[in-house]
Amino acid sequence: MNAPLAFTYQALPMRVVMGVRALDRLADEIDRAGLERIMVVCSPGQLGLAETVAGRVGARVADIHPHARMHVPAASAAEAGRRAAEVNADGCLAVGGGSAIGLGKIVALRHGLPVVAVPTTYAGSEMTPVWGLTENGVKRTGRDPRVLPVSVLYDPELTVSLPAAVSATSGMNAIAHAVEALYAPDTSPIIGLMAEEGVRALADVLPDVVADGADLDARSRAQYGAWLCGACLGATTMSLHHKLCHALGGALDLPHAPTHTVVLPHALAYNQDAAPGAAAALGRALGAAADPATRLWDLAGLLGAPRSLRELGMSEDDIDRIVETTLAAPYANPREVTAEGLGRLLHAAWSGQPPT
Ligand code: NAD
Repeated sequence: MNAPLAFTYQALPMRVVMGVRALDRLADEIDRAGLERIMVVCSPGQLGLAETVAGRVGARVADIHPHARMHVPAASAAEAGRRAAEVNADGCLAVGGGSAIGLGKIVALRHGLPVVAVPTTYAGSEMTPVWGLTENGVKRTGRDPRVLPVSVLYDPELTVSLPAAVSATSGMNAIAHAVEALYAPDTSPIIGLMAEEGVRALADVLPDVVADGADLDARSRAQYGAWLCGACLGATTMSLHHKLCHALGGALDLPHAPTHTVVLPHALAYNQDAAPGAAAALGRALGAAADPATRLWDLAGLLGAPRSLRELGMSEDDIDRIVETTLAAPYANPREVTAEGLGRLLHAAWSGQPPT
């Protein structure tokens, strides 16, 4: 017999419009949010895409601000805030990946402007009330319901230009959210269902996305998985895997999604025996009951994604520093995190060995 259920679950007020040509609904969503003077934010490389999206709301665009950067540097947050005040914006339309949405969130936090998000990667930030800001090389994060986008449009046509390599690592980044949500201290049955389904959808479809980035069915299913995985991230507290990636990104400036891709099989291998419920759900989702961690390692290989921290530019000498940083802040994890265990994990991830 199973143990009696015990959990707390707080639903987030998410609104999602998903499907091919969801963009046709953008003007309605902007109306619904009551926005008249929108500042569109995007990364420099996505200016063309942002202009296309902005074209759908015409005169209500007060400015296009193509200066989003990874991890929201403080200077870029301050500049976006100044610009929003200058053009008297009453809302932000974030077009792009986690960097664009992250910038929109900081403007929301500081200036109270609601965000409408049009995500074009699988990072999942649009589904969370988590903001991040990087100052003097240190990234701070926090939770605030005001930064959760009031509406999110997932249109697979906008993701066709996402390169295969970015699609692969971004999809693995999404899977990581669901993996850790399954053994989070504040997980719940509804999150368990969403996480399992999100992993199933992404693991099934990422090979098709990588094989043919213009396959709209595959792109759509990947967005479906990313939505579910992002919602899991928004509803739970992350453990060892996310703490490690945060430490690697913050201290060594390693690229976000590729770092998640390399670390995930190792972090799951570290935890899976101590989290049998999560391992069983992942076994079902991945068709790998015996060892979901190795299945994720194989998936990364199949996708042609990086599988070592060395190839991301990390030096072996940095391992001790990362062990120290990751041990310094306490967090819940299914298995006790020790310096020795973490050192072994990082050596395997650094050199590109399969997870053990
Ligand atoms: P990103 O937004 O920087 O995008 C990755 C790359 O893809 C960039 O080079 C971008 O220009 C490119 N790109 C995006 N859309 C494209 C498209 N349609 N066509 C071609 N290229 C495209 O990175 P990301 O991986 O999406 O997000 C990572 C950031 O988001 C990190 O700062 C991370 O900390 C943050 N994040 C935050 C949360 C949260 O809940 N707050 C969740 C996940 C990620």
